[in-house]
Amino acid sequence: MSRTEVKKPSIQDYTREELSTLIKPAFRAKQVYSWLYHKYVTSFNEMKNLPQALKDELTETYRIEPLKIVRKEGSSDGSIKYLFELQDGNTVEAVLLLMKKEQYHEDGTLKHQEKYTVCISCQVGCKVGCAFCLTAKSGFIANLTAGEIVEQIRMIKRDNNIDANRRLNIVYMGMGEPLDNLEAVAQSSRIFSDPDGMAIASHRQTISTSGLSTKITKLGQLELGVNLAISLHAVDDALRETLMPINKAYNIQSIIDAVKAFPVNDRKRVMFEYLVIKDVNDDIGAAKKLLSLLDGIKSKVNLIYFNPYGGTAFKRPEEKDMIAFQEYLTKRGLHCTIRESKGLDISAACGQLRDNELEEK
Ligand code: SAH
Ligand code: SF4
Repeated sequence: MSRTEVKKPSIQDYTREELSTLIKPAFRAKQVYSWLYHKYVTSFNEMKNLPQALKDELTETYRIEPLKIVRKEGSSDGSIKYLFELQDGNTVEAVLLLMKKEQYHEDGTLKHQEKYTVCISCQVGCKVGCAFCLTAKSGFIANLTAGEIVEQIRMIKRDNNIDANRRLNIVYMGMGEPLDNLEAVAQSSRIFSDPDGMAIASHRQTISTSGLSTKITKLGQLELGVNLAISLHAVDDALRETLMPINKAYNIQSIIDAVKAFPVNDRKRVMFEYLVIKDVNDDIGAAKKLLSLLDGIKSKVNLIYFNPYGGTAFKRPEEKDMIAFQEYLTKRGLHCTIRESKGLDISAACGQLRDNELEEK
């Protein structure tokens, strides 16, 4: 089926408020939401407290499974990478990251539960075309609908029996550029945070962008309350243009200006992602510039090891250079972490599971 032939909207495209205008009487919307987001049902017939006529009508009007799990890879650190197939046969990835394993006190009582973060995709492919990114290689294929974004989380929770009320963080750091599909991304964020649905508070959601400055401003105006992450990766425009051609349209200063005006949650900081590539941007000179660039911004820096894949000339940086870069910043008061390579053995960076699948075909 091609994308244009997909006529039925999926039920996950709608906020509860919207559903309550579509489904009568309105209280039924809350019940539907509960079946979807607390019980993870995959057919309307499982919604036992709805009258048969309504179940039939919903089945007729909406899709309930916009995605199918077509591949799954586990990693020794507990992370699981999923490949989802859309109705039209396209595929996208999402990853369940286990940030902290369950821990117990010496007397056997639970100290803390495992901490989950799910990394989700918002487009098939991407228009931005970053030189280091595998997703970029396939060009842009399609925008995901809000329902397709929402379903990644719902399916992963269902597949892992994760309780409806378990805390979980979401990062829009999979395939695609969230601000290039802002409407669907914003809608998915509202659906995630609904207290009658998955209740994933907006401060637990992070939108990562390559820096479409005008859209950062727009995102801020939507007042979703989400956290912002900027994929900076370079501190001068000439280098950034070679890594990220989008920098020609939105240069570094325009991003910094947009970030300064962005409404940041009191307890949060804007995250600046810095993908470190050996001999490209791993020198202390860059760290120095980064420090002055972020002056006056409530920020934190996340250094990411470049994850090599077949056919790329870029190299993974050395650990000593990562540490030196980090120390330069932390010693001068800037929060800086090095992203642990979660799920490295399962082809870590997004785009890489999909690529393996395509190669095998
Ligand atoms: N398009 C958005 C969100 C998706 S990319 C953005 O660019 O921010 C999520 C992160 O993965 C980005 O910071 C990106 O730079 C990083 N990434 C891309 N290719 C990578 C690779 N080969 N190794 C490690 N990280 C990579
Ligand atoms: Fe798109 Fe992000 Fe990849 Fe750049 S890094 S091509 S913006 S997905």
